[in-house]
Amino acid sequence: MKRKFFYSMILATSFLAMGCNSKEQASNDNFDYTVDKFADLQILRYQVPGFDELSLKQKELIYYLSEAALEGRDILFDQNGKYNLRIRRMLESIYTNYSGDRNSEEYKNLETYLKRVWFSNGIHHHYGCDKFIPGFTPEYLKEVVLTLEPSTLPLAQEQTVDEFCEEIFPVIFNPQLMAKRVNQADGEDVVITSACNYYDGVTQAEVESFYGAMKDSNDETPISYGLNSRLVKEDGVIAEKVWKVGGLYSPAIEKVVYWLKKAEGVAENSEQKAVIAKLIEYYETGDLRTFDEYAILWVKDTDSRIDFVNGFTESYGDPLGMKASWESLVNFKDLEATHRTEVISNNAQWFEDNSPVDGQFKKEEVKGVSAKVITAAILAGDLYPATAIGINLPNANWIRAEHGSKSVTIGNITDAYNKASHGNGFAEEFVYSDVEKGLIDKYGDITGDLHTDLHECLGHGSGKLLPGVDPDALKAYGSTIEEARADLFGLYYMADPKLVELGLLPSDDAYKAEYYNFLMNGLMTQLVRIEPGNNVEESHMRNRQLIARWVLEKGAPNNVVELVQKDGKTYVVVNDYQQVRQLFGELLSNIQRIKSTGDFDAARTLVEEYAVNVDPALHAEILERYKKLNLAPYKGFVNPVYELVTNDNGDIIDVVVSYNEGYAEQMMRYSKDYSSLPSINN
Ligand code: ZN
Repeated sequence: MKRKFFYSMILATSFLAMGCNSKEQASNDNFDYTVDKFADLQILRYQVPGFDELSLKQKELIYYLSEAALEGRDILFDQNGKYNLRIRRMLESIYTNYSGDRNSEEYKNLETYLKRVWFSNGIHHHYGCDKFIPGFTPEYLKEVVLTLEPSTLPLAQEQTVDEFCEEIFPVIFNPQLMAKRVNQADGEDVVITSACNYYDGVTQAEVESFYGAMKDSNDETPISYGLNSRLVKEDGVIAEKVWKVGGLYSPAIEKVVYWLKKAEGVAENSEQKAVIAKLIEYYETGDLRTFDEYAILWVKDTDSRIDFVNGFTESYGDPLGMKASWESLVNFKDLEATHRTEVISNNAQWFEDNSPVDGQFKKEEVKGVSAKVITAAILAGDLYPATAIGINLPNANWIRAEHGSKSVTIGNITDAYNKASHGNGFAEEFVYSDVEKGLIDKYGDITGDLHTDLHECLGHGSGKLLPGVDPDALKAYGSTIEEARADLFGLYYMADPKLVELGLLPSDDAYKAEYYNFLMNGLMTQLVRIEPGNNVEESHMRNRQLIARWVLEKGAPNNVVELVQKDGKTYVVVNDYQQVRQLFGELLSNIQRIKSTGDFDAARTLVEEYAVNVDPALHAEILERYKKLNLAPYKGFVNPVYELVTNDNGDIIDVVVSYNEGYAEQMMRYSKDYSSLPSINN
């Protein structure tokens, strides 16, 4: 099964060394980024800098697109599991109406369970996909439910409350039933054993033969088969129930279309108007050819300030990777931050010509990629509350090849992650002294950003293969080597005076913040994401350890970088930053040679020697220190609130944004105002 997780979605990966793009903007420093914390989750808030400077028409457009975004919420709940809407509505009725003891431990646990259901858009963990284990008993839940007015419960037709409990409780309490939302275990029927609601009554073999028969291997522009439907067997017949106006999920899709039509009326230009019109046509017909036409129009609309994703987009939630969950993101271009990536791209040839790589492996003509930096205005569906920090769409390979794709990083979201991490105790615990902490406080965000930009805009695109070298020659080691190459290209240039000259860095020693963060992460702190006893598996993590360990070892004779003990704790100390840069350059040159010549043995040796193994004693120490900080490993966001301002004639004169809503408050409002689907969708 191919999964394209890091292909179309970029997820936040490290704690300190994460990019951020809105430093220069007028963001309010007294802004409170943290909202709530429960289970393994922290809820943050993000700002929308620049919204007030948009024109009235642009603000209106964002408002309508945001409404269209929020109307799809119930669709995702139902896609993630057929009982999710009923369970959510039952719990919300308790949350609103229960008049018993709200201070008991069981009630508190029930509230936490509801908060987790909201967060995951269902009863399974948003990341691990395992079903939640409730911290209360079925007897307690029954007792609470029986105190409620039956009309406030999502009962099926002619169902009694007792029958309702009998039907729903096993779904919540029986750990064997619907245990995993997406099961990928090799050798099992992943369709039958997955709790997601993309298939009903069909086996994996039946699904595969149904779509196998549709596919034409000679078709060079294939539609995304099965993308927008549930596949069911009814009365022995296998058929698709398409998600469209008049089809499955129609009540929600009609609302989405209503707001899209409003948006169409205030589009910025004719290209954008055509994009929205085509999307409406697709929702009305469910035709996947129309979806492709829409995707092509969308990818070509690069001039509009405002942009959006709205629809059945990513297929991570389907064990077979075909059916797409509903999501939406409304955003506008961050002009200042996008300017920064353009400066990098415009100088791509200079960077290529001056890299420490052997001349025969350099590109004669290099073209930088100019990734757009955007400001998110609303997150919805499968991007809410947990979200990506970057997106690369569309997913159809032939459209990407023929028409290109849009790659964006979401500046205000990474900014919120960064701001929330300041003062959480992480740097205080792991950074060696006030000198390093001072550098990181001052420059850590901006250099983290810039390293990401250099990695994405230049690193991956630099260098070339020698003629005849198989691009897949490095096999399983290929992606670690490729990530290391891109990271090293960025690291090497972080310390180059050229960056100060181009106005990308404020001072000659700013780069030290990124060097320290990178080495600390690669040598120690990224280990917090690995279970005791395991090795490093993920290729980005392997790449970071490879680079950091290699530099530690090769610099040892000159004591360039060392691990020191202080009060029984291990710290990274960098004694000579310029020599670190020379070592980064040396390793870059070496790794580019491996890539350019397809030297599999050298790739294997490097990765196996430096990137994979974990020192168990150090690992245990890091986990222990991290645990004491009591940080939530997963984060998500509440949205801002947008309101129309009208004059006495009812004309819209402004759209205002505010940031005061709490987590439960927002979830309950969404469940009240944007919840048009019935509890049972067949
Ligand atoms: Zn990369």
